[in-house]
Amino acid sequence: MNYRHHYHAGNAADVFKHALLVALISGMQRKEKGFLYLDTHAGRGAYELEETMRLANGRERAPEWPAGIGKLWTEQAGSLVPFLEIIRRFNRNRGGPDERPAWYPGSPWIAAELARPVDRLALCELREDDADALAVELSLRPNVSTRVMDGYTAVRALLPPPEKRALVLIDPPYESAGEFPDILSALGEGLRRLPGGVFAVWYPVTERARTDRFQRDYLALKPPPTLVVELRIAGESSELRMKGCGLLIVNPPWKIEADLLGLARAVASRLGVDADAGASAFWLVPES
Ligand code: SAM
Repeated sequence: MNYRHHYHAGNAADVFKHALLVALISGMQRKEKGFLYLDTHAGRGAYELEETMRLANGRERAPEWPAGIGKLWTEQAGSLVPFLEIIRRFNRNRGGPDERPAWYPGSPWIAAELARPVDRLALCELREDDADALAVELSLRPNVSTRVMDGYTAVRALLPPPEKRALVLIDPPYESAGEFPDILSALGEGLRRLPGGVFAVWYPVTERARTDRFQRDYLALKPPPTLVVELRIAGESSELRMKGCGLLIVNPPWKIEADLLGLARAVASRLGVDADAGASAFWLVPES
């Protein structure tokens, strides 16, 4: 496994995913009853942005955060502020300066920061060094467990939870051709175990046809209501490999569509790189 999230921490995709994650958690928390937050591909929970990034061949790699969180850092108004406040708090806690991001949190830290005493976090990461770092990062938080574990196995092993409510973030590296089939099989199994569970799957948009195929194959599961929110940072003709990304959300919290679309539009308007930048939201499986 070559993937290191460090290179990507705080980029446009992270900003999109984490801004929507904050909204999803707050949507889950509209109900008093606690829930399990299961992060199947958790990462290490904290990233030092200025750490030199050296590739295996010895060359340095330019960080991606200046085109992401770097562009939003000073924003003080608008729908992204609740998300930005969390990111700025993390930077401050780590001793970063107020005027620029030096540290960026991962999804587990964001979820832990928002968790109520009734909520519980299960965090899975396959890389032992990252899982160890994550366990240290969140060691003082109550109701958090970290596992060195395959995230897809975790869906089978940890659902249904005693709380009978769950938000499952599936955020894999997409290094292998088998990632989409693995996601679909985990979703099928997860929905069998917890039909009302909220599953949020992040995916990159590189070629449109690949994304369309994933969404079409997903429909074969005969899934419950499913909302798709997509961010486009560049048009089809762009040389950028990743032109955008999306979040496929199974059983989204009630009436969250407008909020998520608003967040995606705000990200697109600030981080888009050409005139084709934008955002969309549509029901892949409509609410009945
Ligand atoms: N969710 C994290 C966040 O938003 O901060 C980022 C996760 S990163 C995109 C993907 C992570 O999945 C990497 O840390 C990688 O080591 C880990 N990983 C790869 N394959 C895995 C698997 N089968 N199960 C669990 N973790 C895996």
